[in-house]
Amino acid sequence: MSIFDDFLINAKTAVSAVGKKAEKVIDVSKLKYAEAGLQSEIGKKYQSLGEFVYNSYLSGEMDKEALDRKIEELRELNDNLESTRELINAQKNKVTCKSCGELVSADLKYCGNCGAKLYSDDPTDEEDGGEACEDSDDTVCRDVEKTVKEAAEDAAATTI
Ligand SMILES: [Zn+2]
Repeated sequence: MSIFDDFLINAKTAVSAVGKKAEKVIDVSKLKYAEAGLQSEIGKKYQSLGEFVYNSYLSGEMDKEALDRKIEELRELNDNLESTRELINAQKNKVTCKSCGELVSADLKYCGNCGAKLYSDDPTDEEDGGEACEDSDDTVCRDVEKTVKEAAEDAAATTI
């Protein structure tokens, strides 16, 4: 009975780790999307404020309440942009642990959550598959890359 309990707990942990990882990836892209949206919105508000001030100057009348409203809107948007950028920067210097999926500081050699090595010593084991084949349509280059990767996977499979 306890063996099955252990298995269930481990399966649940694995599922939640994968779920967490996916959620975090979406979060960063969501933040960048929000940043772009806020920047565009702030640009429009500045333009609107400029037109408002220009027209007020020409007409010699200033609607103080409307001005307060526009300034307050801009201040809220700028605050939002600042906190969004802080959140993005907080994620920047982090890497996802390949073993447990936790986001940890990129300065560490070992995962602070599970203790796994964060960087492999083997350069063929890099996530991006090596830069030599990037921006290249050379099929031979890609085939070699694929063969090396498959060989590495086979080797890993046989050692387990
Ligand atoms: Zn880990």
